[in-house]
Amino acid sequence: MNIYGITREKLEEYFLGIGEKKFKAIQILEWFYQKRVHSFEECSNIKKEVIERLKSDFSLRLPNIIKREMDGDTEKFLFELEDKERVEAVLMKHNYGNSLCVSSEVGCNMGCKFCESGRLKKIRNLKSSEMVGQILQVEKESGVRISSVVIMGIGEPLDNYENVIDFIKIINDAKGLAIGARHITLSTCGIVPKIYELSELPLQINLALSLHAPNDELRSKLMPINKAYPLNELMVAVKDYISKTNRRVTMEYVLLKGVNDSLEQAIELAKLLRGLNVYVNLIPYNETSHIEFQKSEKKRIDAFYDALVKQHINVTIRKEFGSKISAACGQLRSKEL
Ligand code: SAH
Repeated sequence: MNIYGITREKLEEYFLGIGEKKFKAIQILEWFYQKRVHSFEECSNIKKEVIERLKSDFSLRLPNIIKREMDGDTEKFLFELEDKERVEAVLMKHNYGNSLCVSSEVGCNMGCKFCESGRLKKIRNLKSSEMVGQILQVEKESGVRISSVVIMGIGEPLDNYENVIDFIKIINDAKGLAIGARHITLSTCGIVPKIYELSELPLQINLALSLHAPNDELRSKLMPINKAYPLNELMVAVKDYISKTNRRVTMEYVLLKGVNDSLEQAIELAKLLRGLNVYVNLIPYNETSHIEFQKSEKKRIDAFYDALVKQHINVTIRKEFGSKISAACGQLRSKEL
């Protein structure tokens, strides 16, 4: 086990299991996440024999940063994991704080046609410790505090459900990294049964859904997951999620030139979303080695935006980050291969 991948609940169980009081879990979390020690020996309120036991039961390994690249307010980090697999994270500095985009899997099986990450099939899930480790290492190496986390790097988080949920619990725990649930966003391509599961959890995180098309025909072409969970099922799940959690859901819509950016499609999108507590986040496409897809022109993006506004849909255009350093969407890792 890795200490950075264990939730408070599981650590409490562990201590009870070795005949210790469960409040030791809180003490350990405080040492590692608040006082930021790097060894069990430094936990000075824990007795020696317990420290010895912890040392033999837990690893403290963090993923190594093997490359950093900066572009203005954006910096990308390439990590090498214990088994030499690589993932990336992207740090974005906003005026309201620093956010980190973390990866959830090595590779991705979702196969979205425009996305670079899917060029490499999933090799394995990331462990929760490897997700927490991305945050801790970036904070350590760049000396900044991360105030918000988006799970939008390589991988489909709901395809690695248990580890991602543990990750969220650990970073959200007041004794862990204490990142508020409203500062944590999970982005999914729409794995319907997992959206239902997520809605049952008492977590007030933000859910973002990669929609990218207003109808099944186009969405199935762009995103194979749509064949398994078509829009009618997906929208019912989203409605259920909104009513159970009382949270507004973000609909991500990456604008692809001549593919999904027409005014008719904007109106179709508005119809699909009418009456739902959602807002649309229009994402300028980051051009990748998928040469069949191009970024919509600025004029077209603005017109699409205006059409949604006219239809009374809440909409924003995402600020572009790190396109010069291919910090977007799996490009760093795929360049390194
Ligand atoms: N698998 C999850 C999270 C990772 S992708 C999901 O599908 O949501 C994060 C977001 O980036 C998704 O909305 C994805 O569709 C989008 N994306 C992928 N490649 C992109 C590109 N080249 N330019 C802009 N957005 C991209």
